[in-house]
Amino acid sequence: MTKAVTTSRDPVCGRAIEVAQSSRFIAYRGALYHFCSAHCLERFNDIPALYTGAQRIADIRPIPKRRKLRLASGNAADILRAVRRVGEMIGVTSVITEKSLLLVEYDLRKTILAQIEAVAAAEGLQFKEGLHGLRRRLWKLTEANELQNAALPGPSACCNRPPVRLR
Ligand SMILES: [Zn+2]
Repeated sequence: MTKAVTTSRDPVCGRAIEVAQSSRFIAYRGALYHFCSAHCLERFNDIPALYTGAQRIADIRPIPKRRKLRLASGNAADILRAVRRVGEMIGVTSVITEKSLLLVEYDLRKTILAQIEAVAAAEGLQFKEGLHGLRRRLWKLTEANELQNAALPGPSACCNRPPVRLR
């Protein structure tokens, strides 16, 4: 007797999902995708083509990002809690604090700056506005463009991208 397929691969983070236990799934173009978290489901919903196209299968290299976020406020306890929560996020590879800076490294295929900001904000952290606020908005815009490019089929997707810094 052949065993039925009981796990499905989360297309965003790559985790194996027990289909019978899965509570987060979505039907997209005739296929059913399962997700480990609301986080991964949100990434998928933003740009399904990035995670379902032929390009996804051919090219799953990470898109590493490193951001220096400037904190506007927050006591030490809030900062520590936020650092822990951001560090636990899917796609975040490193997070450290240094004075009023939050240094975050992540894989853009698995998380985006907007999600990181939302998790930090939920822990009571606020980031500097002004020039830094403008810079963060620009980063978020370029991240969206970069993901759109990465989702395009064909070799142009990789050639439009600046070379990634491998760690
Ligand atoms: Zn996941």
